[in-house]
Amino acid sequence: MVIAANIEKARKISHKAAKLGKIIGFVPTMGALHEGHLSLVRRARKECDFLIASIFVNPTQFGVGEDYRRYPRNFYRDKKQLRAEGVDLLFSPGANTMYPSSGGTSVYAYENDLSSLLCGKSRPGHFKGVCTILIKLFNIVRPDIAYFGQKDYQQTLIVKKLIKDFNFPIKIRVLPTIREIDNLAMSSRNAYLKGQARKSSRCLYEALILAKELIESGQRDSKRVISQMKQLVKSRELARIDYIEIVDAENLKRVNRIKGKVLIALAVYIKKVRLVDNIILNVKK
Ligand code: AMP
Repeated sequence: MVIAANIEKARKISHKAAKLGKIIGFVPTMGALHEGHLSLVRRARKECDFLIASIFVNPTQFGVGEDYRRYPRNFYRDKKQLRAEGVDLLFSPGANTMYPSSGGTSVYAYENDLSSLLCGKSRPGHFKGVCTILIKLFNIVRPDIAYFGQKDYQQTLIVKKLIKDFNFPIKIRVLPTIREIDNLAMSSRNAYLKGQARKSSRCLYEALILAKELIESGQRDSKRVISQMKQLVKSRELARIDYIEIVDAENLKRVNRIKGKVLIALAVYIKKVRLVDNIILNVKK
């Protein structure tokens, strides 16, 4: 595995592979890797000839007061894991490399349809940062296929729009959420959770399963389902709801009556740690 911290080196290696006719797979991450990230890497390894992963904790997608500075970082361990998975190139630039002008850039990319919904409500500017860094990364490594996790479902829809609207010749693969044994969705931020906080974090998945059961037993009124989910989360120590929503899985608009492909998504603070999770249901009638 070659490690490139600068743009020119990463570009050169990736373009050389492309010239040889290799299919380039790309897994962008912020590091502190877990099995969720590795599931993307493994799928990409199977499907592509040349595999690139990136580790970059992107400052422009963190809001004021969020955890950019203390975001978990474990480069040594990440590097070992990626090497063991057969990654060909690890691109791991520093913040000054990606944003030479003091942490920002003068041109940003906005996505206007979906970015203000769900996570965008409490994290204004987050998806602007995500879109901007992805354009930069896509331009540098020019992947054929890019891999993302369903855990960040809203992000996957926005990335699809970005790829379409900016005419990137990139296919996107969205892979299922990988969970801990107690079903907490894996996340680099889970490292913050200890003791009671870790126990309480189970409430996200439990609320999703409660919703699924209610819907499967015939409930179609989203307000009622959400109200029961809220009750469950509120009953857990240290948990504070950011949002719980049932929306159309394509356009993320709220649905009153549950029908068709719906996304049930929630974000919950456990103390100061913000966790997200979701499931998608296809409700026939
Ligand atoms: P991050 O490092 O949090 O930016 O995540 C990098 C990629 O890994 C994103 O596409 C995430 O959606 C994906 N990812 C994060 N957690 C999981 C998980 N538990 N299961 C599957 N994919 C995940």
